[in-house]
Amino acid sequence: MAFETIARIIKPMIVALKHVFMPTVTIKYPYEKIINTTGENYRYDPKASIAYPGFKGRHILYLDKCTGCSLCDIACQNVAEAIMMVYGFNASLKLDKKFVEDYRKGEKAAVDFVENLVTRLGVNENGVGPNSHPVVDVVWNDLRALQQAGEGYEWKLNAEPIYSYRSEAVLESYFDSFLTWARGNGWSDQVIEVQGADKEDEYHKLSNGMYEAILAITKIDEKLAHNKKSYFPAVDYGRCVFCGLCVDACPFYALEMTNEIELSDTDRRSLFYSPKKLAKPGVRGPPAELGWFDKLVTALRG
Ligand code: SF4
Ligand code: SF4
Repeated sequence: MAFETIARIIKPMIVALKHVFMPTVTIKYPYEKIINTTGENYRYDPKASIAYPGFKGRHILYLDKCTGCSLCDIACQNVAEAIMMVYGFNASLKLDKKFVEDYRKGEKAAVDFVENLVTRLGVNENGVGPNSHPVVDVVWNDLRALQQAGEGYEWKLNAEPIYSYRSEAVLESYFDSFLTWARGNGWSDQVIEVQGADKEDEYHKLSNGMYEAILAITKIDEKLAHNKKSYFPAVDYGRCVFCGLCVDACPFYALEMTNEIELSDTDRRSLFYSPKKLAKPGVRGPPAELGWFDKLVTALRG
């Protein structure tokens, strides 16, 4: 009787001990990466109406195929509204010669204008702008780097394209505070038409009787025959539910989903992927380092 009781206690202990040395079937995430069984992106062939199995992680956008048709955006509208169709914009300031000469001499009105533009853009110590949704990926140039342009000077404000659905949104995100300051400090602000400009462009003529400056928000033309408007989707991963309906909706094989799933960030704004960021193949970081004990257990289990 006593022997039977001892056997009942020892037997399960032996079974448990055996399992310690058996190969594991679970994945030790994040120390081991989840393996994409097919090694393929999730993609859809609209001609054959076939979806190919693959991991539904972050998207990859093939800029050489995207026509800017917006069908991915429409597909997402009833799901998560995570896609926004955007243009790339440049922002620049055209200044007359006298303004620049006086600025260099330290003339107050010119210096105030430049200082207020710089500080009211909210550029941080790394030259990165406010980046508020929907405008992303903006790195500002050295704000005092002036290029001679014809009679006057041109100050190209952004180093990276500013992505947005319209020029007014760029103005609102970056220049609202500056324009309000200018209007309240003796500068008139007039929206002007410029011959040959794209209909998405916007020009503001600022003048105070002494100087004239033109703030130009101009659409970037990528000169793509298949996408004449240079119009692309951007994805907000703070909203995306990774359903893949946008991939299914794309008639031009321009959108797929990759096995990149580690998209978390401490900054909400970095979850907004511009077309340029979506076009880059995902980079998967190395797995986290195992501690010595976990290394030993993993080695024993095989
Ligand atoms: S995968 Fe994301 S972006 Fe695409 S339709 Fe679904 S929610 Fe929208
Ligand atoms: S990704 Fe596809 S569906 Fe979306 S705009 Fe480009 S071509 Fe159209």
